[in-house]
Amino acid sequence: MATAVPSQRKLDDLRREWQKRLKLRDWTISVKFADLKFLRDLTDIENPVGACEHFAETKQARIWVLQPSEWDAEPNERQQDVEDTIVHELLHCHFAAFGDRSDVGRLYVEQTIETLTAALIGLKRQKGG
Ligand SMILES: [Zn+2]
Repeated sequence: MATAVPSQRKLDDLRREWQKRLKLRDWTISVKFADLKFLRDLTDIENPVGACEHFAETKQARIWVLQPSEWDAEPNERQQDVEDTIVHELLHCHFAAFGDRSDVGRLYVEQTIETLTAALIGLKRQKGG
């Protein structure tokens, strides 16, 4: 796992690569770093590493990744693997069209996205590419 601190350019490159792969090219999507408080307010979870504000009607989304200055002192793969975070948040765009959900529905969506993200990233890294 790369331990280098990712740049904004890295986020843009990953967003471009996966937006294309996930067939989200008709969406307008930005990816930027955000601080922990902002992410907590947005996601309502204790230790978020990312968040996605999506607008299915206009096909726009803003993805936020926890800024490296707030990563744990100990190596934390969840925080360091910004590619995983970006793929996860991009997948939310596909699910956005399903509309608002109950808490249980949201949980299923999160679990499904986790599974798909792991599978997709696994495929890419297996091929070494
Ligand atoms: Zn999610």
